Amino acid sequence: MSTLFKISLPDGSVREVAPGTTPADVAAAIGPGLAKAALAARVDGEVRDIMRPFEGDASLALITARDEAEALELARHDYAHVLAEAVQKLFPGTQITFGPATEDGFYYDFAPKERPFTDEDLPAIEDEMRRVIARDEALVREVWTRDEVRAFFEKQGESFKAEWVMELPADETITMYRSGGWLDLCRGPHLASTGKLDPNAFKLTRVSGAYWRGDQANAMLSRIYGTGWLSKKQLDAHLVRLEEAAKRDHRRIGADMDLFHLQSEAQGSVFWHPKGFLVWRALEAYMRRRLDAAGYDEVRTPQLMDARQWERSGHWGKYRENMFVVPDEIPSTDDDAPVLSGAGDLMALKPMNCPAHVLIFKQGITSYRELPIRMAEFGCCHRNEPHGALHGIMRVRQFTQDDAHIFCREDQLIGEIVAFCDLLDSVYRDLGFDSYAIKLALRPDQRFGSDAEWDKSEQILRDAVAAAGRATPEYGWEELPGEGAFYAPKLEFHLTDAIGRTWQVGTIQADTVLPERLDASYVGEDGQRHRPVMLHRAILGTFERFIGILIEHHAGRFPLWLAPVQAVVATIVSDADDYAREVVAALTRAGIRAEADLRNEKINYKVREHSLAYVPNLLVLGKREAEERTVALRPLGSDARQEVLGLDALVARLQAEARPPDLQG
Ligand SMILES: [Zn+2]
Ligand SMILES: [Zn+2]
Repeated sequence: MSTLFKISLPDGSVREVAPGTTPADVAAAIGPGLAKAALAARVDGEVRDIMRPFEGDASLALITARDEAEALELARHDYAHVLAEAVQKLFPGTQITFGPATEDGFYYDFAPKERPFTDEDLPAIEDEMRRVIARDEALVREVWTRDEVRAFFEKQGESFKAEWVMELPADETITMYRSGGWLDLCRGPHLASTGKLDPNAFKLTRVSGAYWRGDQANAMLSRIYGTGWLSKKQLDAHLVRLEEAAKRDHRRIGADMDLFHLQSEAQGSVFWHPKGFLVWRALEAYMRRRLDAAGYDEVRTPQLMDARQWERSGHWGKYRENMFVVPDEIPSTDDDAPVLSGAGDLMALKPMNCPAHVLIFKQGITSYRELPIRMAEFGCCHRNEPHGALHGIMRVRQFTQDDAHIFCREDQLIGEIVAFCDLLDSVYRDLGFDSYAIKLALRPDQRFGSDAEWDKSEQILRDAVAAAGRATPEYGWEELPGEGAFYAPKLEFHLTDAIGRTWQVGTIQADTVLPERLDASYVGEDGQRHRPVMLHRAILGTFERFIGILIEHHAGRFPLWLAPVQAVVATIVSDADDYAREVVAALTRAGIRAEADLRNEKINYKVREHSLAYVPNLLVLGKREAEERTVALRPLGSDARQEVLGLDALVARLQAEARPPDLQG
């Protein structure tokens, strides 16, 4: 008598099925609609092929295109296989290596037989991929032994795959996926057949070099990248976003506006030019006013601290590989001497400000009545990131956080988190972001502390967001299992920019570990010493990255209060030069950042040049304006529109428009 397997479904019902039954069979038994829509199965929590038979009692959830994240991941992995099959068909003798799904598509690394691939090869490969999809070959999972796989690939002349399979653990189940006559060593899972892919929902994007297993000592491979989606509509939207993102690239706009530059002698550290630093100063002054008004105290702490201090705080163990360490020793000036003897103590550049703030908190005795203490620092930190991970001013090694730590009693936590949420909301709106999402990152697998402590700390963050009235879909409220730091859960704030991209910038988390490690305490109402809770929080994250986001969000057209040059006074005739100087002086007196352009150039040339540098207001002066003491105002992007105003009226108008949002009446 054969035993039946009990398959429990998400609605709570249980079906009994014979061995050999697949999730596809269950879908078909439920109904033809579901059979058609089902792409894969989640069996006991694991995503599996829909055609893979059950191996015992199991829970089953069917995955359809509505489960977008899973469906995209599956489709992208399938596209990678289809790509490999197509390349081997078109270029016989090409060896296959690895081909994973990526954030927006897939890639596959090949060892070409004759020459590396180029972008010119891509259209033909795309056509061949469409033929593979049209054949609608079943993607069949087969369990092989290691030796069988090695023998197969050796016979095919596939030395990379043959090498790789022998490194897999001997006791691992090794699977091959067959698509028609084509086979790849792969863990899966996959869609049921190539025909489940939309032949018009992918595009090959570029070719680059990549080393076998990422090691420069190994063979150079040809990597073909593609973007892959569930529908043509999704693909088209993605391509428009890419184009839009390229137009807004902060590195290009930063150069056009002369804001900053980077160079290899200071990897990941920004050279802020005068105009870029004007943006920084305007943003910093704004943040400082907001923090002052919200009851924060600003401090400044050392860049370098003894390695032993970092050991006490726990960073030396956890964070050392990201820290810049320097010897506490004066190098010898003797030509022959080694640069350093190596006998001195070590110091480290701070990768974060937290321990230094605890050291300030620990000076003197703090009473419960003095809490909360909100300690802010525009803290310049260094983290040693690999060169390859750096990106413009968005991902850097030297950065300045809008950091603060709130030391408080447990009974003050909710109130402080609510106040933080309100401040952050108002700052984002002031900076031109109407939409952001709040997410709660919950306990990770590897963590300190008991489950009871985690239950409590997660609940406090949940309650605080609810108390702030923002645990709602409008605020994208969502909980992210497993994403918290090892010592505490955290709230994350993700901005949505003008083209729908999201950027995690703000965070707040409640920490009891660091006050404990560094022995911070306050005297309670009972006269006893107690540990304060430490809230780590930031609104912008870092100035560097946030300014990068502002550039891309506003596409270079900063709100007037943040624009580095708020007005350029351009003359048509040299007769207006003196008057132009007078106009610039009047604007400067009114606090407006203005420059004169008195060059002997055609006015259209000047207009074009300042438009390309995103100058928000161009003030054009000819002979007539000079005589009548007026100015012709041309706001950026309104080439045809021009308004003539008296000088005083113009100054008053720009002054009002350039006032930062927190100082608007
Ligand atoms: Zn695969
Ligand atoms: Zn901190």
